[in-house]
Order: sequence, then structure tokens, then C-alpha cells
Amino acid sequence: PIKLSNTSYNVHIGSHILQQAGPLISSLLSVKKVFIIADENVAALHLNTLTDSLNLAQISYETILIPPGENTKSIHNYEIVTNQLLERGIERKTPIIALGGGVTGDLSGFAAATTLRGVPFIQIPTTLLSQVDSSVGGKTGINTPTGKNLIGAFYQPEIVIADTHTLDTLPIRELKAGYAEIVKAGLIDDVELFEWCEKYGQYIIQKDQKYLTTAIEKACAFKARIIKNDEYEQNSKGRNLLNLGHSLGHTLEAELGYDGRMLHGEAVALGCCLIFKLCTKMGLCPESDTHRVIQHFSAIGLPTSIKGLPTKLSASNLLTHLKHDKKVKDGKILFILVNGIGKTFTSQEVTENDLYQLLIDDGCI
Ligand code: NAD
Ligand code: ZN
Repeated sequence: PIKLSNTSYNVHIGSHILQQAGPLISSLLSVKKVFIIADENVAALHLNTLTDSLNLAQISYETILIPPGENTKSIHNYEIVTNQLLERGIERKTPIIALGGGVTGDLSGFAAATTLRGVPFIQIPTTLLSQVDSSVGGKTGINTPTGKNLIGAFYQPEIVIADTHTLDTLPIRELKAGYAEIVKAGLIDDVELFEWCEKYGQYIIQKDQKYLTTAIEKACAFKARIIKNDEYEQNSKGRNLLNLGHSLGHTLEAELGYDGRMLHGEAVALGCCLIFKLCTKMGLCPESDTHRVIQHFSAIGLPTSIKGLPTKLSASNLLTHLKHDKKVKDGKILFILVNGIGKTFTSQEVTENDLYQLLIDDGCI
């Protein structure tokens, strides 16, 4: 359960539960029709299971397919999707189901939040990243040429259905990228979760259903705890901390142009490593903790240094992007820093020079 001040909803986690989506939805909402927004890859693999289950529950549906990839989270696609919904006669009570990863969830969620000033929204996440992170918590949005997720809304789903069986078809690189967000949760304020990852991370990467289910449950419970007290990210010790590694991560993603050279979760892994390195340099975090974090990400096969990337990156370009990220307050860059594993705090004390040096030392030109 996710309990917020004005609403609450359940995250259902399990293998083969997509087959029960129709009955689950009709037990919650009395609806005759839904709109499904699905990414083309996912539709080819899992749409039939969903539509069979809707048929079972006597819910009719219309489908809108969107192309896969980060570039889909654009104003252009938002316009296409919302026009389609309106042209096909969506009504205030007609739910939108997002079937896909975080890209589908973020774009569909923003369409749900804004079409007719808000229609019910259902998340059916099909990547590890979206099952452990993006489908829960209500952040929806799209990217602009200036940066990621700069237009969006807080809009909670009515229900989240995370079927671990859908991960069977997920490419391993995508699985690893999603795993980075679980480790990030541990790094924020849950040493036990990080230690659990050190012990069992390899099983998750091997798609062991038992460990996958536990990992998703742990990560969702962590997120539920954080957002409960700070639904709208207004508290510096609240949901803001979920952005650990993200300012640098978003910058890396933006600089590489969202063309698949760096996945969001990979950028988060590298972003977290950079923050640990920075904090060790600043005398804030023991070197042994930084070493442990790098060690774990690298054992999983996630990027841990800019040096290791196939593309050369310019420190000054990265800094320019960084300043466009929304975590800038009064002209100063707001960073989530660490005193060690599980010990995060917000600070405005990082200077541009500290960052420039960090990026150069890590392999930027
Ligand atoms: P994604 O949605 O792009 O999916 C990754 C790829 O996997 C795509 O090519 C997709 O077609 C494919 N895919 C999805 N499910 C599949 C399956 N079951 N089998 C085979 N292929 C499948 O990426 P993602 O990593 O899920 O999400 C990344 C996005 O999530 C980013 O835009 C990021 O900003 C956002 N995000 C949002 C939040 C939030 O709170 N809203 C949190 C974290 C990340
Ligand atoms: Zn993220």
C-alpha cells in the first residue's frame, strides 16, 4: 500500500498477474472502457495478455502505440497522444493504462493528469526500473530541449500492477539499469538494503523470480516511506533525496542525446559514483564507502567512471547542462551529498570549480 494524505493505492507485485489486470481494475473502478498507451516493443510482447484480461472483465479498450525510447517523452508526442485521446472521445472517468517502462509511464501519466483536467490513471510497469521506481510516487512528465522532466505534474495512479513475468523479455542491459535505482534507494538511507543488494544483486540480474519480487517489494516500500511525508517534494530531507546521483545523471543523459548510449539507470549508477567520489574528495565520506559503492555497481556491470565511457565528454558542456537542471535554487546548484552509505543530505555548498575538477579527474576533457 502507498498511503498519502489525500489518496492511497496498492502496488500489486507478482509473477503472471498481468492476466488478472482486468478483474483487478474492475474491482476498483466501475468502468466499461479504458485507453491503453503502450510502447511498440511492449505491445508486441505483452498487450495481448492485458487485452485478454480486459475482455474477461468485460472492459472495452482502445490502444495508442508510442515509439520506444527516451525521445518519446517529448512535447510533440504529448500532443499526438492527447489529440488521439480527445479525438477518440475520452471522458472524465475513462482510465488511461500505461503499459511499458518509465518512458510510457511518465508520458501517459502526464497525459492522464492534464487531459480533461485529469482522468484515472493505471500503471502497468514492464521494466525493472519502472517497477521499482517510476510507477510509484506520482511523478509524471516529459523532457524539453533544455533538460529532462522539466514539464510535468504530480499525479498518482489508482493502482500499480507490476508483473515480474514481463521482465522475462526485458533485455539484460535494461534490467541492470533498473537495478541501479534499487541500489540508489539503499545508498540514500537504508544500509540494510544496500547490503542485501551486495549479497543478492547477482540473483536479480539472473532474473531469479524470488529475489526479483523481494527487491521490487523492498524498493517500493522504501519509496512509499519517503513519499508518505513529502508527496510534493517540498522538504529537503524528503523525496528530494530520491534524486541522489540524478543531477549529474540527467546531465550525462542529456549530453549523450538520449540515443541509447546511456540509459537512465546507467546514468544514475554513474551519477551516484560521482557523488561518492566528490564527497570523499571534500572529506565528507570515507573512501572505503566510496570504494564499496563503485565495487558493487561494477560487479553488476554498470558504469562507474566517465573514463570508462566510449564517448569523450567535455566538462564545460556538462556543467552548462547541469545548470539547466531543475535542482537549481537561487542560482546555486542543489546537490544530494553523502556522509557514507545510507547517509544523504542536501547541500548548496558544491561550487562550480569542485564539479569541474571532479569531472576532469574522472575522465572528462
Ligand atoms: P523505457 O520506458 O525506455 O524502457 C526501456 C526499453 O525497454 C524500451 O526500449 C522498451 O521498449 C523496452 N521494454 C520495456 N518493457 C519491456 C519488456 N517487458 N520486455 C522487453 N522490452 C521492454 O525505460 P525505463 O528505464 O523503464 O524508464 C526510464 C524513464 O523513467 C526515464 O525517462 C526516467 O526519467 C523515468 N523515471 C521516472 C521516474 C518517476 O518517478 N516518474 C523515476 C525514475 C525514472
Ligand atoms: Zn531515476
